[in-house]
Amino acid sequence: MKINNRYSPNFDKKKRSINSIKIIVIHYTGMQSERESLDKLSNPKSKVSSHFVINRNGKIYRLVQDHQVAWQAGKSCWGKYKDINKNSIGIELVNKGHQFGYTSFNKKQLSSLIKICKNLIKKYKIKKRNVVGHSDIAPLRKIDPGEKFPWKQLAKKNIGIWYSHKLSLLRKFRKVKIFTKEDKAKFVKNLNNIGYCFSTKNKSFFIKTIKAFQRHYRKELINGLVDKECLIIAQNISKKL
Ligand SMILES: [Zn+2]
Repeated sequence: MKINNRYSPNFDKKKRSINSIKIIVIHYTGMQSERESLDKLSNPKSKVSSHFVINRNGKIYRLVQDHQVAWQAGKSCWGKYKDINKNSIGIELVNKGHQFGYTSFNKKQLSSLIKICKNLIKKYKIKKRNVVGHSDIAPLRKIDPGEKFPWKQLAKKNIGIWYSHKLSLLRKFRKVKIFTKEDKAKFVKNLNNIGYCFSTKNKSFFIKTIKAFQRHYRKELINGLVDKECLIIAQNISKKL
């Protein structure tokens, strides 16, 4: 795997222990071009970076070394981890994003991503449950890598978790309302189990968390409403943890 160094100064001065690396965060750059993205991620004024950037041809850049804390996740939370920068490796995929023209991730880009992820998972013993999107760990602020990101395809390569039900079977439960308190409580519990951090008391926070879950696991309908399909998916993933 060829990696091109293009270092960014945007990381904590204090090195971290390799043992603290537990999570992989996947992003899209959300900017007009590859060059603009690389410039921003390595400009000291921007104060943002990422460990890796993968362009649309699958070319991999290393901006920050693994043992340094890159400034990529911002305010974020996943399970017991409350400051994700400290515990994660960030990977940016060049994509214009929702703001400038969101496109599908192509084969070459994904094949490089899969290679890096496999490598990192092996090296740092990262659990399947801890391969996440930026939107999963910061649902209030972020929607990247977005609904076009092929989580299912990655899960087939043992990167991240996917449910075992068939989509055609699940489809019947889409938009089917759940009424009982028990079902609602179950969904909340499963969402928590999976790793999502939220409070049901804060309604807009909760809706955005549901949307993040849907963007990841049920991209066909991202409406922030819990239906039976969402309930079944969350339950199934929860069982696999
Ligand atoms: Zn991001």
